[in-house]
Amino acid sequence: MTRAISLHDVSKVYTKGTRVVDRLSLDIAPGEFLVLLGPSGCGKSTVLRMIAGLEDITDGTLLLDGERSNDLPPSGRDMAMVFQSFALYPSMTSGDNIGFPLRIENPGGDPRPRVDATARMLGIEDLLDRYPAQLSGGERQRVAMGRAIARHPSAFLMDEPLSNLDAKLRNHLRAEISKLTRELGATTVYVTHDQSEAMSLGDRVAVMRSGVLQQVGTPREVYALPRNVFVAAFVGTPRINLLRGLVRAPLDGAMTISLGKQFLRLPEPLSLDHQLLRVQQGREVIVGLRSEAVRIAKHASARPGEVPLTGLVEYVEFQGHEALVHFNTGSRPAVVPDLENPRPASRPARRRRRDGSVLDRLRERAEALRAGSVAVLDRPADAAPGPEPAHLPGDLVVRTTPDIDLRHGMQVPLLVDLAHLFVFDQHGERICPAPARLPDLAE
Ligand code: ADP
Repeated sequence: MTRAISLHDVSKVYTKGTRVVDRLSLDIAPGEFLVLLGPSGCGKSTVLRMIAGLEDITDGTLLLDGERSNDLPPSGRDMAMVFQSFALYPSMTSGDNIGFPLRIENPGGDPRPRVDATARMLGIEDLLDRYPAQLSGGERQRVAMGRAIARHPSAFLMDEPLSNLDAKLRNHLRAEISKLTRELGATTVYVTHDQSEAMSLGDRVAVMRSGVLQQVGTPREVYALPRNVFVAAFVGTPRINLLRGLVRAPLDGAMTISLGKQFLRLPEPLSLDHQLLRVQQGREVIVGLRSEAVRIAKHASARPGEVPLTGLVEYVEFQGHEALVHFNTGSRPAVVPDLENPRPASRPARRRRRDGSVLDRLRERAEALRAGSVAVLDRPADAAPGPEPAHLPGDLVVRTTPDIDLRHGMQVPLLVDLAHLFVFDQHGERICPAPARLPDLAE
């Protein structure tokens, strides 16, 4: 059995009045693997705990298989949780730990067949007689998974279950979790702040910031068409390059995006997306270039759609299979709040206007999506004042083969593929490629 989970305008306000989840709506299909992704403190665990019934829902509705379930006790929800800390009973063997929920559920029954079948599934048959203290971290997490699986719950709720493990084991167990949950066909909601984990595990990824859902889509969608600059910057490694730009669209000349000392000249005839940028004439924007959008090559070798830039090598970061070259192009990076330094959402609660016009609702939705500006074009006002560093750090990171021979101070020709150009407005909303759809107004 598997389960549909829907959240409609769900909010959470703790007693001190902090709104840590703000009108979140999300439909999770039966059997789907949905990842809640966002920086630490953005409200992911709170959402999970509200689904589990461990936290009251302040406002909004939780539907389980279409039925309002806000007040259903946790035991009535048929869900299993797996936490970051393995939380095994130290005085019980692995087998007893796995069988424990079965004994609670059916005190007279024999849990052994289920325990054995679960252990086989996880490849831990030979660990069943050991105590938690006699297990490695990875083995303990597998036993904890076994305890969650043995009951055959209709949904799994996983809260950063791998973050206590080393990188190698994490990758291994990640693959196992993906395989297991799909074999079991159970709906899974998985919380993580690790974007690569989210991208590799999720059927869909829901990106949160300061208690507000920013975007939900397949990993490919959130990477290729991020709704705003926060999502663009949170998803993808190395992080997308974000540069301050100024749109120049003279009536009698080529349209360009100035990047400080250099500019991107948009090729004629303008694509539809670039034509739509005309309205930004004279405005500051944020240009987003993923590292694969730029290559090191002679300007004469430009392919259609590629335009030239020049970069001064700051430093080269060797990664083994590739190198990341940090360039200085004379542009200024744009700042995205909340990426490194999470802050709780502290906006006052707004009243929902039931009778508002479509425009009001559009405005409200756009406002909710932003949770405050997702982009800062300039250095934040509260940033420590001080002299500009003698050497500006690189403003553009480009991926290349590891054998490249580049040294600090070299002037290097670059080609930017405009098919991969993102432009965000001053609020951080994506304007190029143009938003494909209007916001969904369905209740
Ligand atoms: P995440 O899982 O994204 O790291 P959480 O859902 O754990 O975030 O927390 C979201 C915010 O709610 C944080 O600012 C956290 O401090 C706050 N918070 C969590 N639990 C409580 C609580 N019981 N009382 C008050 N604030 C809380």
